[in-house]
Amino acid sequence: MSTRRRKFWGWGYEDESLSLDHQRAIGALMAARFGIEPPEPLAEPRIEEITLRAPRVRAPSALQDMVSSAPLERASHTYGKAFRDIVRGFRRDFSAAPDLVAFPGSEQDVVALLDWCSGARVAAIPYGGGSTVVGGVEARGLGDYAGVVSIDLMGLGRVLEIDRSSRAARVQAGIYGPALEDVLRREGLTLRHFPQSFEFSTLGGWIATRSGGHYATLYTHIDDFVESLRVVTPAGVMETRRLPGSGAGPSPDRMLIGSEGCLGILTEAWMRLQDRPKYRASVSVKFTDYHRAVGAVRAIGQAGLYPTNLRLLDAEEAMTSGAGDGLSNILLLAFESADHPLDGWMARGLELVRDHGGQVPEGAGKTRTDESATREGAAGAWRDAFLRAPYLRDALVGLGAISDTFETAITWDRFEAFHTGVTEAVRDVLARRCGGGSVTCRFTHVYPDGPAPYFTVIAPSRPDRQLEDWDAIKTVAADTVLRLGGTITHHHSVGRDHRPWYDRQMPGLFVKALAAAKRELDPAGVMNPGVLVDPLR
Ligand SMILES: Cc1cc2nc3c(=O)[nH]c(=O)nc-3n(C[C@H](O)[C@H](O)[C@H](O)COP(=O)(O)OP(=O)(O)OC[C@H]3O[C@@H](n4cnc5c(N)ncnc54)[C@H](O)[C@@H]3O)c2cc1C
Repeated sequence: MSTRRRKFWGWGYEDESLSLDHQRAIGALMAARFGIEPPEPLAEPRIEEITLRAPRVRAPSALQDMVSSAPLERASHTYGKAFRDIVRGFRRDFSAAPDLVAFPGSEQDVVALLDWCSGARVAAIPYGGGSTVVGGVEARGLGDYAGVVSIDLMGLGRVLEIDRSSRAARVQAGIYGPALEDVLRREGLTLRHFPQSFEFSTLGGWIATRSGGHYATLYTHIDDFVESLRVVTPAGVMETRRLPGSGAGPSPDRMLIGSEGCLGILTEAWMRLQDRPKYRASVSVKFTDYHRAVGAVRAIGQAGLYPTNLRLLDAEEAMTSGAGDGLSNILLLAFESADHPLDGWMARGLELVRDHGGQVPEGAGKTRTDESATREGAAGAWRDAFLRAPYLRDALVGLGAISDTFETAITWDRFEAFHTGVTEAVRDVLARRCGGGSVTCRFTHVYPDGPAPYFTVIAPSRPDRQLEDWDAIKTVAADTVLRLGGTITHHHSVGRDHRPWYDRQMPGLFVKALAAAKRELDPAGVMNPGVLVDPLR
């Protein structure tokens, strides 16, 4: 049994926090970059320092065995892993802690918990890995509930069945990414869905938030892999039919995928799998002109080649991740297949790259059959930085900085004006609030009709005004994204943080229809109140 403990306030395990020396070194880099005094790292919170209000509700005796009111559990389930969550962790502010944390071990336990919540007017917040970055698991702005219970699905963590001929598996929703892939690997299979939060997020969380995986084209969101679902709602259990496709009216799966726990708790899903890739080809290409690089991405995205990686890093982002020198924009282009060598696909991709002025290293991009192909050069540097980023983010917060990301999607016809408009608006608010800072952009996903740009913001601030600075920056960023035609989120979901902009983005009649669905499935309005849609009164 592992004795490692996850941080109750931040990313990953307690023993993986950066050392004080490492944090100071990052502070020195920040100071040099932004022309400020080197900040002294804040002390990480300890559970003994946290004061929680007394639980307002008690679970009935039949549920006592699966419920905890231990301070460590309540603190660990108070927030997700957003920038503002980490800031409040450093502030020792756990005022939104749930009254209780429940650990159901079976679907029947989930049914019993939701029965109790509905009858006693206790808000029920489904909790997967708690990696939400949009306030999805936080008891904020709830209204008049008798109490709040966080329902942690980790006890529903098994692969139940594998159908080899259809290449699908029936999996419980609380399984974490690594545990799922460990089981599938033994069968030569993979779900091949790798969000950056893979290690600490669950299948149910991915489905509930429509998460986006690591791969750039074709299968981008988890939606594509869902064959059928089973969900416990306060009104009863619903299971959809296993089918490879169906034209029978609006899809019930589509109503539940992305429902963020406001309609019920996903307990199981049949998921479409893939054979594990054997062939890989990857290359990193330099472009001096950003918009020509964008043109190359569009051409490849529209050529039907479906690369696994088509990640364009602007010059500053490439430098920050160690993949570039700050002068060139870097395009990481990669293909993978379980079935065939990739030389033809890569050759055509590189032709398009050269047509748009990309500088391709001599002899690069050959098909290889060893996994290390993705771990070398700029692609490898990028991958390492990608995996380290969440740990670094906690350290930056402890240094009083702003360190956050926002992501969206936009059609190609509007991309150039969109990119310029968003970058300028965010630079402007950074200058006003923080005296400067950086805004960089990469593409996480690419569709034939447009990219999903992902912006990273780093700026100096101070522990006593970090939240207020973040709120101001977030408001400008989200207002501009919406005004210039983007979506409030491509894959980080809505939660509580994006609600104001989601309400503006969605057609009013759709919101009413969703609210009516909620009333039917959750008549007492106890399921994750505050995310996506308000209960009808
Ligand atoms: C460092 C970092 C990197 C990230 N990278 C990515 C990324 O690459 N792609 C991406 O899409 N997202 C990413 N995210 C965001 C987050 O990881 C995803 O939203 C993820 O899908 C959440 O899964 P989870 O199991 O942690 O769910 P949680 O955070 O526990 O919950 C998220 C939402 O889903 C609901 N929920 C959870 N489980 C269930 C269930 N079984 N039934 C019903 N509702 C449920 C919760 O109530 C909540 O509203 C990242 C987050 C961090 C901190």
